[in-house]
Parts: sequence; C-alpha cells; structure tokens
Amino acid sequence: METQIAQTELELIQGDITKAQVDAIVNAANSALVGGGGVDGAIRRAGGDAIEQACAEIRAREGGCPTGKAVITTGGDLHAKYVIHTVGPVWEGGNSGEPELLASCYQESLQLAVENGVQSIAFPSISTGIFGYPTEKAARVALTAVQSFVEQSNTAPASIQFVLFDEATYTCYADALHVLFSE
Ligand code: ADP
Repeated sequence: METQIAQTELELIQGDITKAQVDAIVNAANSALVGGGGVDGAIRRAGGDAIEQACAEIRAREGGCPTGKAVITTGGDLHAKYVIHTVGPVWEGGNSGEPELLASCYQESLQLAVENGVQSIAFPSISTGIFGYPTEKAARVALTAVQSFVEQSNTAPASIQFVLFDEATYTCYADALHVLFSE
C-alpha cells in the first residue's frame, strides 16, 4: 500500500526489515544500545560485528541513546548503508509522554537521515513489541509524525517505507493510513 506526501513516496510493506533495499533502516533499540531481542536482534544478526562495534563506540562516548532520540551507525553486512538506532518509549499507560516520545523517534530518525544524505529509509513498528505500545495507537502516531516531517522539510527522503513484520501490525498501519489520508 502506498501514498504520496509532497515529494515523498510512503509505502507500507509486510516483511523482514533486514532485507529492505534502502539506504538506511531504523532499529528499535534500547537506551543502552546493547543487543536485544525482536527487530534489534534480527538487525544485529544480519548486520554483523560492525554494528556492535559502532554501538560500543557510541556507548563509550555518549553512554547510549536517550528515549526519543536517535544515533546512526554503519549497516555492516546489510544492504542498507546505515542503521539508525532510535529508542522508543516503554508503554506505561499513555500518560507518561509516550506519544510525544514515539513521534520524536520518527522525526529524529528522519532528521539524521537527511543529514546523512539518505534517500530511502525503512522503519519498523517502534515500541509495539517488547515495549508494549498498543499498535493501533502507535500506528497513528508514527504516520502522523512522518507526515508532518515530510510536509515541513524540503529535503525529506524520496522513499519512506514501513516494513511491518506480521499481518496484524500491517493491518493497523493500513487502517491508520486510510483514516489519516481520508481526513
Ligand atoms: P520494541 O522494543 O521497540 O517494542 P521490538 O523489536 O520488540 O521493539 O518490536 C517492534 C516491532 O518489530 C514488532 O512489531 C515486531 O514484530 C517487529 N519485528 C521483529 N522482527 C522484525 C523484522 N525482522 N523486521 C521487521 N519488524 C520486525
């Protein structure tokens, strides 16, 4: 499923983000930037040691990555040149700034992408696995954040994909896209 926002093509795909043929893939990391499960484990396995080495350097220099922020590393053995690691909020009921922090993940990742000349980028569904963010709510936040970044930027990537692992997640994003773009 795809739609156009300004000069950017936005596409929803069901699949494995480690296989995405894009300049940068986004990782749903943790604030320590240490290997986790879920999409983080899959990206590190596919990307190899170079990603862990780059994360170790960032840990040594900056102590990790705060929630809502993003850092960039090599993509190692992945097709993608870069991995952008962003730290989504853990769901605590929705009144602890979760929507703002989740929106910030998408916007900070896109900002880093622009600064590094990334023309195509793939996002997973940040925070909706181990971090427990309800997927319907997260999908709305994610798509709104991407839409507002693209509308405010003259230099947004030409292609933005959401690569959603399972059908239920894909359906939530497809429904949210319908609602947002029929308003
Ligand atoms: P978080 O800790 O931010 O919740 P998770 O990795 O637990 O991150 O889950 C985020 C989303 O990534 C979930 O929807 C999960 O199903 C999905 N996911 C897991 N592996 C992959 C993969 N290889 N490609 C794309 N998405 C994936």
